[in-house]
Amino acid sequence: MRASDLGDELQRVLYTEGQLHERLDELAKQIDADYAGKQPPLLVGVLKGAVMVVADLSRRLSFQAEMDWMAVSSYGSGTKSSGVVKILKDLDQDVTGREVLIVEDIIDSGLTLAWLKDNLLSRGAKDVKICTMLRKPEALKVVIDVDYLGFDIPNEFVVGYGLDYAERYRNLRDVAVLSPHVYS
Ligand code: IMP
Ligand code: MG
Repeated sequence: MRASDLGDELQRVLYTEGQLHERLDELAKQIDADYAGKQPPLLVGVLKGAVMVVADLSRRLSFQAEMDWMAVSSYGSGTKSSGVVKILKDLDQDVTGREVLIVEDIIDSGLTLAWLKDNLLSRGAKDVKICTMLRKPEALKVVIDVDYLGFDIPNEFVVGYGLDYAERYRNLRDVAVLSPHVYS
């Protein structure tokens, strides 16, 4: 689905599919270089938003990347972070002694990822790094080190490339700002 298929539901496109893919090429090169000579990391995707990023990033890596998935709740169907993190689906794999690379769609308050990183370290992961396609610097509520960042974006509610509003718009190719009239 393209932005033009959605009419006035979108306010503006922030990043096109092509721009997202170009940035992923660069991030994959960085990740390849950083893990050269090391144990390849387990890619941990956060469902459901990160499916596109994991799919597109993992295929650009030049090492064999195992994948696992977690589902955590932070938002319900609204547009504001609750700060409450609950595991809805846990990893299938044991992360003890492993290099882990968490792959996320977006860091908003940072509460979800800060919690997730601590959680994986407390299970004995050797190292936990973070890759996120998007970050809203103005919305951050906790200090969180991002190792691989796609783009910083303004503090607006965005959809597409995996990101949803009430489960809609995930299959939009681009990242776009949702028109406020859709949720108000
Ligand atoms: P955080 O804990 O506030 O960083 O929230 C992270 C999660 O909230 C993300 O993984 C998304 O699922 C969701 N989220 C945050 N901002 C947006 C947005 O602009 N659009 C869609 N989902 C968002
Ligand atoms: Mg998410």
